[in-house]
Amino acid sequence: MTVFEMIINGDIPSTKIYEDDVCIAILDIAPRAKGHTLVISKQVYPTIADAPTETLAHMMDIVKKVDVKMREALGADGTNVIINNSPASGQEVPHLHIHVIPRYKDDGISFFPPSMKYEDGEASEYGRKLAL
Ligand code: AMP
Repeated sequence: MTVFEMIINGDIPSTKIYEDDVCIAILDIAPRAKGHTLVISKQVYPTIADAPTETLAHMMDIVKKVDVKMREALGADGTNVIINNSPASGQEVPHLHIHVIPRYKDDGISFFPPSMKYEDGEASEYGRKLAL
């Protein structure tokens, strides 16, 4: 059982800001910025690829509400919305959740590694491989 299932079941405490039939939103216990929120599916899907599109769409609608609330209630200037998929990405809890992190002008936080450069022809090669 994932730690998030225990929270959903009420077996361990959390600071809940929202709940419906599909998802809950709680404060992350180790916030990267104060107010850092997790929108968590009630059904366990290990990654985004495992979740039904309707569930993802609904969760993104809640993410949007959290973003708006962070701007209104915390005075945030922006947010980062992040999903880690699989351990290689840094995912610690194999239960779909969307991080919403409030951001402020010049807060000094960076979630992106330094940028890279494509060699000649490499971008089109990656484009071909990734074409949907
Ligand atoms: P991820 O690396 O994307 O799997 O993120 C998992 C997140 O869950 C981390 O940011 C943790 O701080 C957070 N977390 C772990 N346990 C709890 C908990 N009991 N309550 C709230 N957040 C938690």
